[in-house]
Amino acid sequence: MTRINPGGTIGILGGGQLGRMIALAAARLGYHCNVYCPDAGSPAFHVAQYTTIADYTDEAALMAFCDSVDVVTYEFENIPAETAALVAKVKPLRPGVKALEMTQDRLSEKDFLNGSGVTTAPYKAFETREELDAAFAAIGRPAVAKTRRFGYDGKGQTMVKTKKDLDTVMKVTKGAPAILEGFVNFDREISVIVARSASGDVAAFPVGENVHTNHILDTTVVPAAIKEIVEAKAKVMATRVANALEYVGVMAVEMFVSDIDGKIVVNEVAPRVHNSGHWTIEGAATSQFEQHVRAICDLPLGPTDTVGKVVMKNLLGKEILDFEQYLEDPTASYHHYGKSDPRDGRKMGHVTWVKPE
Ligand code: AMP
Repeated sequence: MTRINPGGTIGILGGGQLGRMIALAAARLGYHCNVYCPDAGSPAFHVAQYTTIADYTDEAALMAFCDSVDVVTYEFENIPAETAALVAKVKPLRPGVKALEMTQDRLSEKDFLNGSGVTTAPYKAFETREELDAAFAAIGRPAVAKTRRFGYDGKGQTMVKTKKDLDTVMKVTKGAPAILEGFVNFDREISVIVARSASGDVAAFPVGENVHTNHILDTTVVPAAIKEIVEAKAKVMATRVANALEYVGVMAVEMFVSDIDGKIVVNEVAPRVHNSGHWTIEGAATSQFEQHVRAICDLPLGPTDTVGKVVMKNLLGKEILDFEQYLEDPTASYHHYGKSDPRDGRKMGHVTWVKPE
């Protein structure tokens, strides 16, 4: 039996805003949630029936958590491999270990993507200075160096324009496994949020266009300003990746697009619900969070159509305090993640505007 009916309990590893929004969507469909996170102040704890405060490597806590749920999912991809393996032994882990392993390491991710018939920027792995020099000679300039593991929001990345920049790269990577990839001269960044259910049904949302500021997502606009054929191609690529991984749940595939020739290059895959899919809460017939719950519980996937033109803007740091202007705006939906410390650059909430068509 792969289906978990409403009334069942979903375990969520990770207690951030993504876990919070999964738990809210799960509750609407009649599911209970147990959120597992080491940090007692986690935003998802506020909205879940059961909570587990323990380290991800605490075997006894993990086993008790697994005992209390019917299926386990996660809201961030840096779950330790041993944790995922332990969970998968006793409960359905959706998405599975394969998706985690593939996305935790940029090298295996790029290898997998290219092996699935999807194009990425050219890349070469390196650790030592000699290997970096060889990679630089092969890839050319400009290039971007990225650590293979634990990179997000541009952390662990260095732009390489001249040979001198290679010194900086080594200072950043400090000999840790990394890749050097060719810089893509793209016109737009887009992402496809795609769901694949435990039964293998696949549904992609309309493509969103993303603008990043200081490597952090600022806005997502839907529909993206791309040709229909490019939109269709982007969805086909995301579907190909989901099928190749035998993926279960919602994932995001981030891509670069060139306007001149419509060429698409896949940048990275996030094996989870994603910031660039927050627009779906008010802007699509089914939200990415409900779709994720449907997919991992093996329910029918929901319709993905947009209900109009949609803009989602992240509220970082103190921007969260400007709630009055959003609450007075009848076209805006304001979301506060329940975090108390509005540090600079911290994702505190978002606002979505929907203009019906
Ligand atoms: P990532 O952590 O790989 O998602 O990269 C963060 C951001 O850096 C991306 O959203 C792009 O804006 C930029 N970026 C990353 N890799 C490349 C590349 N190969 N060429 C051009 N821009 C890139």
